[in-house]
Amino acid sequence: MASKHILHIEDNPSNRKAVQHILRMTDYELTEAVNGQEALDALENVSPDLILLDMQLPKVSGFDVAKRVKADDRLKHIPIIAVTSYAFSGDEDRAFEVGCDDYVSKPYRPKVLLAHLRKFLEKHPSVP
Ligand code: MN
Repeated sequence: MASKHILHIEDNPSNRKAVQHILRMTDYELTEAVNGQEALDALENVSPDLILLDMQLPKVSGFDVAKRVKADDRLKHIPIIAVTSYAFSGDEDRAFEVGCDDYVSKPYRPKVLLAHLRKFLEKHPSVP
């Protein structure tokens, strides 16, 4: 079976590095976008199995990216995990309002992120 493909949208280079590192423990394929506009451009050409979406993004916010994805018949089936920051309380509720399927809040531990990813990407996710 082909490996699953994740689109990670994140403007902070250290957070991108952290996710690259975590995903090395898996066979998931990774595509990255560094702002909301780049993500929307990438989604013209790729159809990932999951979107990991930082909500605090330059140009087009994560909230607007989620709205656009969930309004697009070709893309709306793709699960979105919102990545929210502890510093922005209320973002979890707003993320669900714009159609995100789940959220993790920063800072998170690698195994917590992996558990969230597996919930959507594996038929039989193991309980961490
Ligand atoms: Mn950010």
